[in-house]
Amino acid sequence: MRTSQVLIPTLREDPGEAETVSHRLMLRSGMIRKVAAGIYTYLPLGLRVLRKIEHIVREEMNRAGAQELLMPIASPAELWQETGRWGFYGKELFRFKDRHDRDFCLGPTHEEVITDLIRREVRSYRQLPLNCYQIQTKFRDEIRPRFGLMRGREFIMKDAYSFDRDEEGARLSYQKMYDAYNRIFTRCGLTFRPVEADTGLIGGTSSHEFMVLAETGEETIVYAQGGTYAANVERAEVRPPTESASEPLRPLRKVPTPGARTVEEVTTLLQTTPQRLVKTLLYTTPQETVAVLLRGDHQVNGIKLAKLLGVTDLELTPPEKVMAITHAPVGFAGPIGLSHTRIVADHAVKALRNIVVGANEGDAHYVDANWERDFSVEQFADLRNAQTGDPSPRGDGPLLIARGIEVGHVFMLGTKYSQAMGATFLDPQGRECPPVMGCYGIGIGRTAAAAIEQNHDAKGIIWPVPIAPFAIHLLPLHQSARVTEAARSLYHILTDAGVDVLWDDRDERAGVKFNDADLIGAPYQLVIGEKGLAQGTVELKERKTGTVKPLAPGEVLQQAKQRLDSGSAGA
Ligand code: ATP
Ligand code: MG
Repeated sequence: MRTSQVLIPTLREDPGEAETVSHRLMLRSGMIRKVAAGIYTYLPLGLRVLRKIEHIVREEMNRAGAQELLMPIASPAELWQETGRWGFYGKELFRFKDRHDRDFCLGPTHEEVITDLIRREVRSYRQLPLNCYQIQTKFRDEIRPRFGLMRGREFIMKDAYSFDRDEEGARLSYQKMYDAYNRIFTRCGLTFRPVEADTGLIGGTSSHEFMVLAETGEETIVYAQGGTYAANVERAEVRPPTESASEPLRPLRKVPTPGARTVEEVTTLLQTTPQRLVKTLLYTTPQETVAVLLRGDHQVNGIKLAKLLGVTDLELTPPEKVMAITHAPVGFAGPIGLSHTRIVADHAVKALRNIVVGANEGDAHYVDANWERDFSVEQFADLRNAQTGDPSPRGDGPLLIARGIEVGHVFMLGTKYSQAMGATFLDPQGRECPPVMGCYGIGIGRTAAAAIEQNHDAKGIIWPVPIAPFAIHLLPLHQSARVTEAARSLYHILTDAGVDVLWDDRDERAGVKFNDADLIGAPYQLVIGEKGLAQGTVELKERKTGTVKPLAPGEVLQQAKQRLDSGSAGA
């Protein structure tokens, strides 16, 4: 393609709206433009990257035995009412009415639509297993759309759904997708890690998220140093401590702590450590308000807490209500004398002696408080996030923390949707059984953004070869007939051989061309100048290392091919 004939509106300045590198570079390189919050136009350059990722995804899905179909974006409310998700999905679901006042939504995911298809078309065990996928636009009215394509309200997803005769078959389908995902993200040139993920109310261990490791990731991963365990912190299990403090119990005392509300303020004032303080957090569910006790240096895990309480809806109790329950402002709540409120505690609290807790009184705390003697706890459970240094639940070393971007998700669904929607098939004995399902998503745009987070420098993007919008950026530095002719000839030689080339045929200064080329990030630049041609050479420059290789024009194709092929390992 020629630069003069394709819309690539690069920006010299950083756009103010972008907080992350990938968002900034996608805007600056002219890949995307915002239409509304979380809704973007993909310009030619951006679309080329998405199509390349889609191509890899499609090849690997097909290779894994999945078949492509395309479901509609709009779906009728009735299907969602059957599974209860019309209500459950809440505000994230984009809803609309047709001219007859019938309710519809724009699909955020397609379990209902695919299960409806399967219940109509699949009758016999002979038609199973089945894995159907599509690559299509999804809609989710996210609370906080941000970071460009990373968290959009309209975005492209590959979603696949497997249907099996039994659990064992479903596990096999799951494993095939797990393996396919490993190949896909490897081929995309990403550094990633599959981690155990929360399975919500379904339970079991059959959910993995594929995380691209990046500082800007929204997800927190814990992993065993040198071991195999890796999980989303939402899920990572924390074992109860094996030892308890053995010091003698000291008498309970109330001490003034004027204005000290936070763990840091209280421990500084009382000259102790967060490990000897227990914080009391109040959470409200639709049914009740619960007090949660945690060691001062630990963070509550909302998912574990919600599971323990058996709810999906959970929020920190608002300050007025905290005041009404504890008779003290936020920051002074404690378990002693907290009647009429259920108290649950993290395992770590059980092992502590002589701790600091709030006194349910403004500007006061208790010191040397002790569980059992001074207050009771209804239940101890794993309620906190794993943190650095905690032992791995698999016993394979201490845990470390990393940030990640969730680019893919594989999930064993069981029969949740097939049962809710009455999808059945006849087994060999003629019994009606619900197919066992799995679902598998990949964010195409988010994968592109994640690739930029991992592959860039101060000048711009450095695309991995397999997903680069162009493999080679052809940069003639002069407008002379000789340079133009050499560029034209190399352009045709390369494109005829199937290499994607962007030919900067604009009448611009060399500096402008180099800046744009570095920003757009094709893995190789082919530089043609008068001086080189006079000596019979052009230069093949690697974007990543800046290494320049002078070549005779006749060598370019073979040399470029060799480099591009080795940059696409795994294909
Ligand atoms: P998240 O926790 O990030 O909201 P999710 O668990 O809701 O993700 P899934 O429903 O599993 O995501 O969707 C499958 C894949 O679709 C995700 O792994 C991610 O790559 C992509 N995805 C999900 N939501 C968005 C979004 N708002 N914008 C872009 N990609 C998304
Ligand atoms: Mg989400």
